[in-house]
Amino acid sequence: MQQKFAKYFLILNLCFNLLSCQGQPISVAAETPTTLPATETARPAPASTSTSTPVATSTDIPTATFSPTALPLVRQTPPTLMLHRSNAKFDAVQFLHEMIGIIKENDLRVVTYRDIQQNPAITVTEQGTLFIITIDDIYLRYPMHESVVEMIALLQEAGYPAVLGIVTEGEFAYPETVAIFKELSDQGWEIASHTDNHRNLGEMERVSPRAIYLEVNDSLTKIEAAVGIRPITLILPEGQMVNDAKQLRRAKLIWVVGINGGTQYDSSRELLYVGRDGPYQSVQETYENMRKRFGF
Ligand SMILES: [Zn+2]
Repeated sequence: MQQKFAKYFLILNLCFNLLSCQGQPISVAAETPTTLPATETARPAPASTSTSTPVATSTDIPTATFSPTALPLVRQTPPTLMLHRSNAKFDAVQFLHEMIGIIKENDLRVVTYRDIQQNPAITVTEQGTLFIITIDDIYLRYPMHESVVEMIALLQEAGYPAVLGIVTEGEFAYPETVAIFKELSDQGWEIASHTDNHRNLGEMERVSPRAIYLEVNDSLTKIEAAVGIRPITLILPEGQMVNDAKQLRRAKLIWVVGINGGTQYDSSRELLYVGRDGPYQSVQETYENMRKRFGF
């Protein structure tokens, strides 16, 4: 109640000031009501932060042994699978179905880059048991390809999250596609950027390095507007990394996912490049190759 009175008093005071200050009453009066509720809704935030802070600190204490100094900074990247929609030569759904069988057999835990970001120690404490699944080339403006819908259903059935690489070209967001992203994001899946126009950033760097920022940042902004979460992960079109990651850091990315290299990453760095593997001849062969490459 006291707050309300204080507010009315403030409004009265403002009105008074406006009367005495002729010339700009309309604009100031129009701004005042929007400013006050904003302050009001902002008020509970510090309270919730203050209650959550001690909880976070207390749960942090047991994991204090996993402080950056206690753990190696250079970490093994979890084996990461790169998938795309099915095509005439490749049945991605069947491939994933079989890979899920292998993941279950080996009792692996499927995580996302965001999971690692939220709990960085797991790449040490659970090294050798983690697995990441990515699906590229999903367009924000179109209905999802049937095979991608089927892959998502298989993963949901298995209880595994995946990282989805989204291309955001154009201004339109297809409502059903957005709804699926939101639902999956709520279930712990990661919605990652695959740039705005699926441009090869390595090539772009040679012509116009500064355009890289727009190509990436536009996609982050569009995904955030549609889904409500700004991605922290970029999946590089054609796997092409840039030589100078300045523009990617400027876009405030954390994970940058290519294909070559990146079997290890230095967790102390601001921007983390990691690699991954596409399907080989058979699922078993793909898995064996990943075991060798990522050393798990
Ligand atoms: Zn792609």
